[in-house]
Amino acid sequence: MKLIRKGNLGAETPGLLLQDSREVDVSAFGEDFDEAFFDSSGIDRLQEWATTHADTAPEFPSGMRYGTPVARPSKIVCIGLNYKDHAEESGLEIPREPVIFFKATSAFCGPNDNLIIPRKSEKTDWEVELAFVIGKRASYVEESNALDHLAGYVLHNDYSEREFQIDRCGQWVKGKSCDSFAPVGPWLVTPDEIEDIDNLGMWLTLNGKTVQKSNTSNLVYKIPFLISYVSQFMTLLPGDIVSTGTPPGVGLGMDPPLYIKSGDVVKLGIDGLGESTQTAVNAS
Ligand code: ZN
Repeated sequence: MKLIRKGNLGAETPGLLLQDSREVDVSAFGEDFDEAFFDSSGIDRLQEWATTHADTAPEFPSGMRYGTPVARPSKIVCIGLNYKDHAEESGLEIPREPVIFFKATSAFCGPNDNLIIPRKSEKTDWEVELAFVIGKRASYVEESNALDHLAGYVLHNDYSEREFQIDRCGQWVKGKSCDSFAPVGPWLVTPDEIEDIDNLGMWLTLNGKTVQKSNTSNLVYKIPFLISYVSQFMTLLPGDIVSTGTPPGVGLGMDPPLYIKSGDVVKLGIDGLGESTQTAVNAS
């Protein structure tokens, strides 16, 4: 299944993207795609409901805004430096263990919402990433059954303000948490729809020019390991998002570095997970 949420900010309605490309409103199912939904086998129940109801569910009007495909999670956990060549372009060593950091959940936004360049930013940068959504509470999970805790996959742009992140002291969180720095979606894709999660093309363009082009096969630490690893340090709740890191081609790694300015258009995609577009505007 491909889960979607459409409508104005804060008033999104849950829906499904069907095999025949119709986008239907599933509010008759009676639940939003939030922690309670995932925690009560919501994906399975929705699948069951959809077999008899999806065909007759009302279609969304065309052109309606995509919200995030899941409601705001309890946390957004990110993995840093999970592509060997991105670590090299950042001038950093491959870590002995995964680097973990948070993004504020207030950064979470729809896939095609504007990117807001923060006040006093000169180094706003892009990062196309494969992210996944937790389907079942995960605490001290073994790698061998980690995938039981997975709801599905989403496309994420882990926007980063490099001066805030690197030059302003302390943790990366300052450069990762600005409003609009976590556009997610358009879809939450359930694992049964993806033949091989470790072999998906991924790309990002800036004003039409390709700057990132890679494949999820280049991930250093894979998803089952990451679920198990993160769950040794915190409990992952249903609906939480974990973003797996970015391949090379970010603005920081260019010579000279290249950063986003107002009016720039960033597009990205991962095979099977859809595409998203953000237009940059200055914070008011
Ligand atoms: Zn990242």
